[in-house]
Amino acid sequence: MEEIDLVIIGAGPTGLFATFCAGLREVKSITLESMEAYGGQIPTLYPEKIVYDVQGIPRIRAQELADKMYEQAQLFHNTIKFGANVTDIVQTEDKNFIIEVNNEQAYKCKAVLLCSGIGHFVPTKLGAEGEAEYADKGVSYAVKSSADFKDKKVAIVGGGDSAFDYANMIAPAAALVIIMQHNESLKAAESSIENAKKSGKITIMLNTEVKKVIGDGVKVTKLHLLNNKENTESDIDADALVVAIGHKASPNAFKSVKLELVNRYVKVNGEYKTNIEGIFAAGDVANISDQPKFALIAVGGAEAYSAINNVKKYITPQASLFGGHSSSLDL
Ligand SMILES: Cc1cc2nc3c(=O)[nH]c(=O)nc-3n(C[C@H](O)[C@H](O)[C@H](O)COP(=O)(O)OP(=O)(O)OC[C@H]3O[C@@H](n4cnc5c(N)ncnc54)[C@H](O)[C@@H]3O)c2cc1C
Repeated sequence: MEEIDLVIIGAGPTGLFATFCAGLREVKSITLESMEAYGGQIPTLYPEKIVYDVQGIPRIRAQELADKMYEQAQLFHNTIKFGANVTDIVQTEDKNFIIEVNNEQAYKCKAVLLCSGIGHFVPTKLGAEGEAEYADKGVSYAVKSSADFKDKKVAIVGGGDSAFDYANMIAPAAALVIIMQHNESLKAAESSIENAKKSGKITIMLNTEVKKVIGDGVKVTKLHLLNNKENTESDIDADALVVAIGHKASPNAFKSVKLELVNRYVKVNGEYKTNIEGIFAAGDVANISDQPKFALIAVGGAEAYSAINNVKKYITPQASLFGGHSSSLDL
């Protein structure tokens, strides 16, 4: 079994910055990511959105930001491993940890940093007939690239931010976009709803449910709809159906360690230590108090920085807590 100082769980924004910081502090680490991609929520939920609130970067496409974070994370050549789902953390008698990856013991480490966000998240399914059959044949749960919808007739189910963001994103390329919401409540930001209404290409259908996805065996061709207010049914032509009705998060249950929670977060103190000595947590997975968390990239980055410096001190008690300014390096 490979032995290492620190295992970082998750290669989202927080885990990527933690990987960089570990390199900066000369902590030998490996970062384990269950998905085949880096960037956490970014590639999964909003790769083409523009992000405005990362210090020093006035505006950037989210996927481009994730690419830059990955590049930065690799600066000190600390390993990042994909397809590596951490299934358990077992504390040993000598206060080290055995990390189980994909149900097999894989690493022994002195410390663990949880950067696992909201855990594994899977999109909520619509439950319509034909939905599973046409998954990846026109039915999808996120918009990765607006180019995928060029000249297509696209139905988007949902009334929240994701549905409207996706609609506004793909409208310029698509032939037409229809947002379908099962009731009359639209929860997206007002500006997104206004942009959709102004686009001239987006239609909003309220009280509308997709009951059946119809296709030719290879791709989606039609949707069977129910207007649940008027109790009428109809078919419309469609090439694609994007289901944007949220995600079900299943928080990690590392059964061998009993991490203390505050609401749904792993509770940490000001040093980003959990209740288990040697396990630290930062980013969307962690919270210091029972106040609402600022679940943001910049916040996760700052927490990762603090956590890694405390990990350094934990592993090497004689080390200073602050490792100095990066501007004093010559890389
Ligand atoms: C639609 C949307 C728009 C947003 N816009 C902005 C914005 O404009 N600005 C901003 O600052 N923030 C924004 N956010 C929030 C931001 O994306 C999150 O705060 C950020 O992704 C949190 O990073 P994280 O690394 O802590 O967690 P995550 O991004 O959730 O990453 C956690 C990673 O850990 C992995 N993981 C989980 N469990 C395991 C396991 N057991 N083993 C291995 N890997 C595991 C996951 O696969 C994932 O890759 C937005 C979020 C959404 C949903």
